[in-house]
Amino acid sequence: MHDKKLDDTYSIDVILEISRAIFSTLEPENLLFLIVKKISEVLKDTRCSLIHVDKHKKTGHILATCEGPELKNITIDLRKYPEIIKAIEDDNIVIIKDVDDSPLIKEFRENLINMGVQSIIVIPIHYTEGAMGILYLKTLRKGWQLNDQEIKTCQIVAGMASIALSNSHKFNIIKEENSLLEKMAVTDGLTLLYNHRYFVRRLNEEFKRAKRYNTDISYLMIDIDDFKKVNDTYGHQKGDIVLQKVARVIKKTVRETDVVGRYGGEEFAVVLPHTNKEDAFNLAQRIRKAVKNFKPDFFGEEALITVSIGVSTFPQNGVETVDELIRRADDRLYQAKHKGKDGVVSI
Ligand code: GH3
Ligand code: MG
Ligand code: MG
Repeated sequence: MHDKKLDDTYSIDVILEISRAIFSTLEPENLLFLIVKKISEVLKDTRCSLIHVDKHKKTGHILATCEGPELKNITIDLRKYPEIIKAIEDDNIVIIKDVDDSPLIKEFRENLINMGVQSIIVIPIHYTEGAMGILYLKTLRKGWQLNDQEIKTCQIVAGMASIALSNSHKFNIIKEENSLLEKMAVTDGLTLLYNHRYFVRRLNEEFKRAKRYNTDISYLMIDIDDFKKVNDTYGHQKGDIVLQKVARVIKKTVRETDVVGRYGGEEFAVVLPHTNKEDAFNLAQRIRKAVKNFKPDFFGEEALITVSIGVSTFPQNGVETVDELIRRADDRLYQAKHKGKDGVVSI
């Protein structure tokens, strides 16, 4: 049995290795796996996991386990782990050297023995306000309990894991904040459609692609009819609500791959990749009808929201550049207005 005893030099090497990794890596997820893997390596026949716990819900969330990097994000029911509950409640390490004689896990003893578990250690880890993790170890060595040095090693590693978890936590917050900032930079705050600047960028990209691969691309310019009257009658705030609803109607009517933007005040535009002029015209008609079908609850009996839509298509009608595509749709929109609004003009 003594050949299995933790080797001093190896233990220090492992601690060194983990501490180096913690201070050098920007990938916290891999790091957590490295920690549990290394502990399992140094403490022979040991299974090790890092678990995030939710005290109130009585659930645990596996952040990393030595059993494989793919086994994370599993949720466990803490009621089946009285040793974890005790470690959290006491905010202290729980050491069960021998599952055979621990009253704490008596309900689950048989199960643990069947799995070949000999000792269990649970070490609470604090890594950010309000969040708590635990380092959870089980040894599967028959008749051979964890010794003090092994326990000490686990405690040192748990201390380092708290740094890793704290880094990982901050890293995730920053990642979320960055993606929110990126989203805000391209989104129109009122309608949540793409803003003008980003929309034009996407339009240019899609147009270039269509030209390169010689595929159809269509463009819709949509303008709400007599919107000034909506503002004058119901007020600017209600006008804003109408803009939001119309934006949603448009977004719901087009395909996932179509690009919808708020072009200006009450003007919207849609890029329709791989769409010929007939299909674009039909889609524009569907949008026009869908807008007309929706009626804000604060509207009077007779009142309706309508839109006029101008449609242009590449490679039709001598459209060669993105500017011509826009100009053509603009011109068709103007014609639709001229014809009495609530209509679609293409060609
Ligand atoms: P037409 O049928 O010819 O398009 O007439 P219209 O009244 O829709 O067009 P006009 O260009 O005369 O007026 C557009 C109005 O849209 C004026 C402007 O106050 C309003 N508008 C622009 N942006 C916003 C906004 O963000 N919120 C609100 N409530 N109104 C806006
Ligand atoms: Mg307008
Ligand atoms: Mg208008």
